[in-house]
Amino acid sequence: MPPPRGCIRCRRDECVLAVREASYCAPCYARVFDEKMRASLDQTRGAILRQSVVRAAETAPPAYAIVCDGSVASYVLVHAMYRLLYVPHAHPSPARAPERARLDVLYVDDGGHADDVRAHIARVAPDAVFVACQLSDVYQHGQGVVCTRQPPWTMGEITEAHETAAQDLLAAMLLRHGTPSAGATRAEDMRRLLCRRVLHDTACARQCAALLFPQDATQTAAYVLDALAKGAGHKLPVEGAASLWVQDVLHLHPLRAFLPHECAYYARAHGLAPPAEAPAATDMTYESISDKSSMGHLAQSLITALQHGVSSTSSTVIGTASKLVLQDTPKLWPTVPADACPGIGAKGAALVRSVQALPRWDWDERRACPLCRWPAQEGAAQWTSQRSIRHAAFAVHDLDAHLCYACLQVLDIPTGTRLLLPPDVHDLVRRPERPAASVRVVAPAAQDESMRDALAQPHAPRTSHAPTRVAPDAMRDQVASYLL
Ligand SMILES: [Zn+2]
Ligand SMILES: [Zn+2]
Repeated sequence: MPPPRGCIRCRRDECVLAVREASYCAPCYARVFDEKMRASLDQTRGAILRQSVVRAAETAPPAYAIVCDGSVASYVLVHAMYRLLYVPHAHPSPARAPERARLDVLYVDDGGHADDVRAHIARVAPDAVFVACQLSDVYQHGQGVVCTRQPPWTMGEITEAHETAAQDLLAAMLLRHGTPSAGATRAEDMRRLLCRRVLHDTACARQCAALLFPQDATQTAAYVLDALAKGAGHKLPVEGAASLWVQDVLHLHPLRAFLPHECAYYARAHGLAPPAEAPAATDMTYESISDKSSMGHLAQSLITALQHGVSSTSSTVIGTASKLVLQDTPKLWPTVPADACPGIGAKGAALVRSVQALPRWDWDERRACPLCRWPAQEGAAQWTSQRSIRHAAFAVHDLDAHLCYACLQVLDIPTGTRLLLPPDVHDLVRRPERPAASVRVVAPAAQDESMRDALAQPHAPRTSHAPTRVAPDAMRDQVASYLL
């Protein structure tokens, strides 16, 4: 153990928290916390101002939403945003009035803990509106589309969704097909994509300008590994973006730079003890904490164990993932000219302009997977079928022809299974004017000259496996073709 050092900011001795190699005293960490929240806070304020000033005529009074999943991090997020963003009605500065917005806390209730969470939120953010959603809310207007696995998946007509349809859908993912952990992985993925749909659609219906997610650095890094392992890497630049307009709601991840112990410290410092907190494991080796029940759990335990040994693991993984940049910018970036922003001052107008410049994903305008509504590769089903012993032929209007590679894996369940999927799956497949072009995602050009030189060096021939020389550009094109 190195000798304990003082706070790296003020040099005082009483350190309360170590984050990577730095240790902080309580007042200094409080400032560090707020600085790390600053960018998301400004983007939320920008989205609220855009709604209250620029688009006032088109929309309801301004509002934003925070996702609460009952975790420590989600209470930390609600508390911090409420503390930093709440503008009381009697605020002395009239310039802050346009920032006054309703806070909706969205909670997907599938465990029957809604009352506990509601009571906790009432203490953390007294003015917030608690919105309990159900997984069955994915069936818009109580309807769903019947899909049957032949294979391929064929779609029937839109019908009434019965009460337990969402739970039946999750149960179908666990049907015996592959190992038990494959079933758990499918159920986990399906639950995540149903939750995402419910949360986004609820935020949309309640006209929230922004939707804030509580995933911390470890969860974000685990999600990146998990997505790459499942062939969902093509969705990362969109689904994994730190800030992104999805249709007309700004999705933000304010905690993705915070490690779990930072959130736990904040929760303790502000008396936010949630209803249940798991005890910390004493043995942090991968062998002792690895949970192989599903891919998601495996990725989470791997990151947690690595993080314990190498404190920069999460930021390295997230940083690497963020290098996958979106191309095709003219179509993905909003092309709207800068709107006039009356009465909010130069600083407010700058906030609005900066959120308007953020990338935007719209599944009505781009080739999107009908199930997850994120980018879908063209020909994913053909590719999968060619590599499977169960060759399947499918038609243009079969669901398989439109699904992304990752969703094909989620729906890889026994033949003859019938599922009720959300009704817009039907619309997205059948709509004739659906765009066919996909988003191109490529890695940024190599900046490193030494890498280029190294790649240009001819390889010495080695036995019969003499490698053929590939030009760096050709290599990059090949990598790009795998990404999307
Ligand atoms: Zn200090
Ligand atoms: Zn999909």
